[in-house]
Amino acid sequence: MSTTPSGTQKVVTRLAPSPTGMMHIGTARAALFNWLFTKHTGGTFLLRIEDTDRERSKPEYVDGILDGLRWLGLDWDGEPIFQFARADRHREVGRQLLADGKAYNCYLTPAELDAMREKMTAERDIAKKEGRPPEGPQVIESPWRDRDPEDAPTGVKPSIRLKTRRDGETVTEDQIQGRVVVPNKDLDDMIILRSDGAPTYNFAVVVDDHDMAVTHVIRGVDHLTNTARQIQVYQALGWPLPVFAHMPLVHGADGAKLSKRHGAQGVAEFRAMGYLPAALRNYLVRLGWSHGDDEIISTEKAIAWFDIKDVNKSPGRFDFKKLADLNGHYIRGTSDADLLAAVKGFLPYAANGEALAARFAEVGWEKLAAAMPSIKDRAKTLPELIEKADFLLIKRPIKPDEKAAKLFDADAKATLAAVLARLEAVSDWQAPTLEAAVRAHGEAVGAKLGDLAAPLRIALSGKTVAPPIFDVLAVLGREEALARIRDSVGSTA
Ligand code: GLU
Repeated sequence: MSTTPSGTQKVVTRLAPSPTGMMHIGTARAALFNWLFTKHTGGTFLLRIEDTDRERSKPEYVDGILDGLRWLGLDWDGEPIFQFARADRHREVGRQLLADGKAYNCYLTPAELDAMREKMTAERDIAKKEGRPPEGPQVIESPWRDRDPEDAPTGVKPSIRLKTRRDGETVTEDQIQGRVVVPNKDLDDMIILRSDGAPTYNFAVVVDDHDMAVTHVIRGVDHLTNTARQIQVYQALGWPLPVFAHMPLVHGADGAKLSKRHGAQGVAEFRAMGYLPAALRNYLVRLGWSHGDDEIISTEKAIAWFDIKDVNKSPGRFDFKKLADLNGHYIRGTSDADLLAAVKGFLPYAANGEALAARFAEVGWEKLAAAMPSIKDRAKTLPELIEKADFLLIKRPIKPDEKAAKLFDADAKATLAAVLARLEAVSDWQAPTLEAAVRAHGEAVGAKLGDLAAPLRIALSGKTVAPPIFDVLAVLGREEALARIRDSVGSTA
């Protein structure tokens, strides 16, 4: 096991997702907590893809996990490790346990197992009716544990079961959940290798975590029930236990586990909704962990402050409004250049993204960059930001929306025609100069700036609400802006 120069053990964490579905936001949060803890302690963060379930594991889900982690900026160390590729190693360790007498060949047939289960269920039902605790074993107790291997039936491939202690208890000293005690009589001799030689999940996890020198197993509390079994495997192998920390799950506002019906659950969905990775990281770290009353916690600060011991035991409730507010904060705080890059990165995942990207390319991405300061202030998501840049994307002749069309009457048109003349005289096409020209005109004719801006806004954007109008004029550029105004004045003439 690696050590730091000071001699203390170096932290090694891992994320061990199963590629059997879209990457869930809970997996992202587990990744984030592992990553933060690793950065905080100067350790190593590994990625293990648990693709042992050959039926349900799919390459596209692996891609989704890698993509999701990269997008979230949660980089792992080294190459991802694929669990299935390690099956020979799992078999080797399993057979070693057998050779050492720590495990045994079990020849129970599926029919025998079913009969044992039925008997247990029947006894439980009777005991319940009679108001007494059930008698006899409540877990599968294989007779092969103590039977002479000579009795083995011929031609039957056995599964290998761990010979676990039946007395005493297995204790998990969990960093988040506290001390969790499971009486050993409640645990059966778990199968470690199936009759076809395939390792079972709880066995493979232990062998892998050990071989990867993992010191801290930080994962969802849904795995807490596996931990006692896994600890028994460590003990049988004489391997040191890692530190365990089981994080509460992410719930929806109604207290049920976060699912599709709450709005979104997959990392890719959050990406497609236009959240920034930094905002999502900030939101996820606050879900179940806090630092005083701080809501805005940069990743640097989270690294400095985060300790797995401080994670709450109770589940965090996902609040989409809070995430959107936080996202708005991060959008405002992101530089124009980075925001432009974020939009470009977002469009392939957005509804209608391809068409939007093509149109931005046509108009000139630099125009979007120039518009950023005037559109990013009130956008909470990237689609909202893009919506505010709509004035750039629309094509001449601009068709006013219903509300705008109603307001654009003969008076408005006349007002606009006079403003047009002023604007045509401006050669230095920049927001302050343009504003000065329109203000001067207002003073000359005794009109309020707002009354002049309203028809101008309709002519340029087709709407009654748009980003600051002189910014719009400047960003569109002289030629396009004047052409739009001339269209409006002319078309309603
Ligand atoms: N493969 C498990 C999952 O995707 C995680 C196992 C672990 O972290 O130990 O839920």
